[in-house]
Amino acid sequence: MVSRATSDADAVVIGSGPNGLAAALTLARQGFKVTVLEAADEPGGGTRTYEDPEVPGLFHDHCSAVHPMAIASPFLKTLPLERYGLTWRHPEIPLAHPLDDEPAAILHRDLALTLADLEEDAATWERLFGHASRHMDALAESLLGPVLRVPRHPFVLARQGPTALLPASLVARTFRTTRGAALFGGIAAHTIGRLDQPLTTAIALVLGAGGHSYGWPVPEGGSQAIWRSMVAYLEDLGSEVVTGVRVRDFAELPRARVALFDTSPTQLAQILGGRLPEPARRRAERWTYGPAAYKLDLGIRGAVPWADELARRAGTLHLGGTFDEIAASEAAVVAGELPERPFILASQPHVADPTREADGITPLWTYAHVPHGSTADVAPLIEAQLERFAPGISEQIVSRNITTPAQFEASNPNLHGGDIAGGASTVKQLAARPRIAPDPYATSVPGVFLCSASTAPAPGVHGMCGFHAARSALRVLTA
Ligand SMILES: Cc1cc2nc3c(=O)[nH]c(=O)nc-3n(C[C@H](O)[C@H](O)[C@H](O)COP(=O)(O)OP(=O)(O)OC[C@H]3O[C@@H](n4cnc5c(N)ncnc54)[C@H](O)[C@@H]3O)c2cc1C
Repeated sequence: MVSRATSDADAVVIGSGPNGLAAALTLARQGFKVTVLEAADEPGGGTRTYEDPEVPGLFHDHCSAVHPMAIASPFLKTLPLERYGLTWRHPEIPLAHPLDDEPAAILHRDLALTLADLEEDAATWERLFGHASRHMDALAESLLGPVLRVPRHPFVLARQGPTALLPASLVARTFRTTRGAALFGGIAAHTIGRLDQPLTTAIALVLGAGGHSYGWPVPEGGSQAIWRSMVAYLEDLGSEVVTGVRVRDFAELPRARVALFDTSPTQLAQILGGRLPEPARRRAERWTYGPAAYKLDLGIRGAVPWADELARRAGTLHLGGTFDEIAASEAAVVAGELPERPFILASQPHVADPTREADGITPLWTYAHVPHGSTADVAPLIEAQLERFAPGISEQIVSRNITTPAQFEASNPNLHGGDIAGGASTVKQLAARPRIAPDPYATSVPGVFLCSASTAPAPGVHGMCGFHAARSALRVLTA
């Protein structure tokens, strides 16, 4: 990494999140020189990891922690990242969903084990995830791209597509047990939106099927291993990442034939200023941002005392109770209300990666879905949800690290109001990212592309937005 661009490049990428780096690597692998400009002092965007200020040697993932989409990503799979230090570590159990009065519902990597555990809901789970997980590669290729294109696997899409379009609340009604519906609902809640709107089953399909076929792994040493390996490979290919450069005006950019923005559409419009034609400016202004994340990273003495024994062996936990409880809290958050029991995602990476433990203290990554821009003190609500499923945990907490929605935005200008999904998960914005067009990455300014999680297919660490945007840019570079 360098602190200023060394010479003119073929392409400049603004932002070094996983999509910016994926875009840069796609171009660099074709022989083009790329300069990546990053506002923060460290590359990586959502894949940064930090050391606990109170517990030396204990590392927390600032944003992303668990990576079903990265390991299954059709693009990332083609990169030799293991050679550059990325090692996936799998927990024995990918996902546990603890409940109040019954055993936790479990997503095992093994589909058959999951079906056996779900008992009466085995057939429903098999119908939803069986075919999808047996054809995960085809499903990922079909769903993780722009909407308007000739599908590479039309039969898989024909089978799974109609289900993906359904509201999760409709699908939840096909479950017979609280456990089955809750397990499904927690996965669907990764959409961060109302679960009664269309398309909320799509995310559940990809994450659930991905869990069975690829697992929900963590990178050894934390998510930083993802950006570190991508940057090392990029530098080996002769390109560079320049940190500490926040781009505010297009005129500041070094000369290059194409520019790819790993930014929000709002920022891109501001940076382009008067260069952007009026209709495109109005479209950017209509892009809306949704609920936020409120994060609480904890240092825990020993292991978390989950009441359910299987939960102790899970890498990821969904803390939100029944499907109805999750649906209600997600709807409240979208409406701008903070629920008393918000939906919490938790990860205990040390169960998969013992290097994450520091002198008997283990990291517990948690965040709650909260209203956009919320200024509420949500830490006590998160701790109450933890106590609900892990009684006594409060006595084991040795450090607390909070990131509020405002702090998220300050750490990364893409996270407007603490929105971690690159835009509100409305039906329109889920389908049209950022618009429905044969090439949704190209902007109205020639040679300028948007490549962030605000583009198709979706947020998450998979690099597919960057990959598709770079393929679009390649048409200019090779013309
Ligand atoms: C709390 C939280 C938890 C998450 N958990 C997971 C998870 O477990 N698994 C998962 O797959 N995903 C998770 N995500 C989502 C995932 O992190 C994002 O979807 C992903 O990082 C988006 O990648 P990106 O490259 O589009 O943007 P980002 O990762 O946001 O990167 C954008 C980069 O561009 C830089 N930048 C922005 N504007 C400028 C500018 N004007 N000039 C220069 N640089 C600029 C930013 O500093 C940043 O480094 C989580 C996100 C958050 C916040």
